[in-house]
Amino acid sequence: MARYTGPSCRLCRREGQKLYLKGERCYSDKCGVTKRAYAPGQHGQGRKKVSNYGVQLREKQKVKRYYGMLEGQFLAYFKKAEKMQGITGDNFLKVLETRLDNVVYRMGLGSSRKEARQLVTHGHFTVNGKKVDIPSYLVSVGDVVAVKGKSASSSKFKAMAEAGTTVPNWIEVNFEKLEGKVLSLPTREDIDLPIEEHLIVELYSK
Ligand code: SF4
Repeated sequence: MARYTGPSCRLCRREGQKLYLKGERCYSDKCGVTKRAYAPGQHGQGRKKVSNYGVQLREKQKVKRYYGMLEGQFLAYFKKAEKMQGITGDNFLKVLETRLDNVVYRMGLGSSRKEARQLVTHGHFTVNGKKVDIPSYLVSVGDVVAVKGKSASSSKFKAMAEAGTTVPNWIEVNFEKLEGKVLSLPTREDIDLPIEEHLIVELYSK
């Protein structure tokens, strides 16, 4: 199935909240949710009664959109989380967080997950010294994610490094070297997204 290529802001408006899919624009007055705080389409402003199933479905769609995934891959991660020890919902989010595109975004080397994915796909990153251009690659503790040799001299990466960002505790970033080390796996508390993962667990348990 093809990846969604329509307007990102439409996805946020459909979920009724900012999903931060467009970098700086998301923090400006140009944000689609700020300008039009209702769902897209002809009936977007109508009143709707949402069933339990509808609430669960929307939560799943929201998380898929945060991380920019299609259904098949999303379900595969969920099944992986189910097989892990501990709480399935927590495990699920932890697995999603360790995707390479998300790690690059968390390191501040992409203004959004979407941009980070594109940069990974274009071959700008290495993991432990080897080029990895697969956004869904899952990092492990001890892995070093770095901007690849030639790419490190680009003004884009230099500007992002200078701007810096607040990096979660589980990653240590050296902005001068444009690299980050995975110190530990993220805990649920490290994941600062407004997600009610139990709704997704309930949905997939049906
Ligand atoms: Fe979503 Fe960003 Fe568009 Fe706002 S600007 S609607 S947060 S993608």
